[in-house]
Amino acid sequence: MSLDEYKRKRRFEETPEPPPKLEKKSKHRFVVQKHRATRLHYDFRLEMEGVLKSWAVPKGPSLDPADKRLAMQVEDHPVSYFDFEGTIPEGNYGAGTVMVWDVGTWEPLSPEPVKGKFVPGTDAEASAMLKKGDFKIRLHGKKLNGDFGLIHMKSRRPGTKGTEWLLIKKQDDAVVQGYDIDQYDESALTGRSIAEIGGDQGSKQWQSSRPASRGAVKAPWLADAIAKFDEKKNRLTTEGTGDHKGKKKGKKKGAEPGVSPSPR
Ligand code: MN
Repeated sequence: MSLDEYKRKRRFEETPEPPPKLEKKSKHRFVVQKHRATRLHYDFRLEMEGVLKSWAVPKGPSLDPADKRLAMQVEDHPVSYFDFEGTIPEGNYGAGTVMVWDVGTWEPLSPEPVKGKFVPGTDAEASAMLKKGDFKIRLHGKKLNGDFGLIHMKSRRPGTKGTEWLLIKKQDDAVVQGYDIDQYDESALTGRSIAEIGGDQGSKQWQSSRPASRGAVKAPWLADAIAKFDEKKNRLTTEGTGDHKGKKKGKKKGAEPGVSPSPR
């Protein structure tokens, strides 16, 4: 695994995003970041192989199996990106506001051909499924729960880079028919809305810089993430005033492509 692309795209003296660093161990956490950049989208990240495997999901994940969400695989991110919430300054890659929308843990659900070849629940098993382009996982998050499939697409469109996947909810108890992600504009770390994080004029944070309220945290790994976030918060919030819109064009085109599900 490599964070070269992550490093190449960023200027770390300008962005508050964490520097690239490969971890030796993976805890199988996941994070979904709501990212108000040139285009609003959600970044879906799974901790494995010492990095966060990452997909940009233009419409965001859904708990409705009828929604087949386009998910564009993007560069691996460092694990420390897990709790990054704040503002990427204008003129930088991905400029805009980032919210930690959901956090939790994930486990691989091995299909038969993979089962038996690898120790269940390990990175090796997960990597095999990822390579195959048929990646089934179970999420245990604050907002997202239950089983999901990430299916690699073979695009019919010429010139596509093979980065297109579909993120699809499987049928189970966690299904919510007609799931509307816009109803849940609240940070999993701080309870803030995207407008509050971005310091938009008229947002609550703009009017009174009240401390973010949050409930008791049960999971120790989440408490760690929140503690780290608190350390960084002052720096981020002082930089996070104003509605930064990126100048650079995002790579994510919003249109659903003419693709057919063909796992490879
Ligand atoms: Mn993004």
